[in-house]
Amino acid sequence: MLQKPAKGLMIVVSGPAGSGKGTVLADLRRDKAFAYSVSATTRAPRPGEVDGEHYYFLTREEFEKKIARGEMLEYTEYCGNLYGTPKKEAERVIESGKHLLLEIEVQGAKNIKRAFPHAVTVMLLPPSFAVQEQRLRDRGTESEERILGRLERTKEELQDLSDYDYIVLNPDGGIADATAQIRAIVKAAESAAERFPDLAKHYFEN
Ligand code: 5GP
Repeated sequence: MLQKPAKGLMIVVSGPAGSGKGTVLADLRRDKAFAYSVSATTRAPRPGEVDGEHYYFLTREEFEKKIARGEMLEYTEYCGNLYGTPKKEAERVIESGKHLLLEIEVQGAKNIKRAFPHAVTVMLLPPSFAVQEQRLRDRGTESEERILGRLERTKEELQDLSDYDYIVLNPDGGIADATAQIRAIVKAAESAAERFPDLAKHYFEN
């Protein structure tokens, strides 16, 4: 008998600072079909960020120990800080049958796609660099220096998006459209033929 695949999908969502990614992902996370893996970072918490909820906030030394012990599924250096996905947590989610939502930047997404070719990668984008810059300033959570750092990084990151499976536009910073598009992408990926290995064998069995 054919059955729905037991394992969840790995869904990577990237987006430059100001793309609305945080809001879109917060919405998806409310859906029981998804689970979110809490990343580790060496950056300092922003006001209101809680350890173990938004990130595991680690010292560089603690982070490097985890890398050395092979405990990171992927990691990267971004604007002077390390960010990474703890392996154990990610595996637990996928085995549970929920879709793992990873919010990671371009280099991490590339590493994931290389290691897990079936991962679904989505880039969420504002309509233009100018709009992105405006949103980032309106957010008001970052110093001028950090804003400029993030904008510089965007210029590098957007040069080559050929590894991504999908681009989702977020024209007005609202969530409805972007969330619906990502849900549609996930819906299609749930039916990917590669998720049904040994199909004939199962089909002809009772
Ligand atoms: P922020 O400092 O704004 O929270 O995150 C900076 C960037 O790091 C964002 O693009 C975010 O998606 C990315 N990021 C967050 N967690 C991870 C992670 O576990 N791995 C990688 N590679 N990037 C991450």
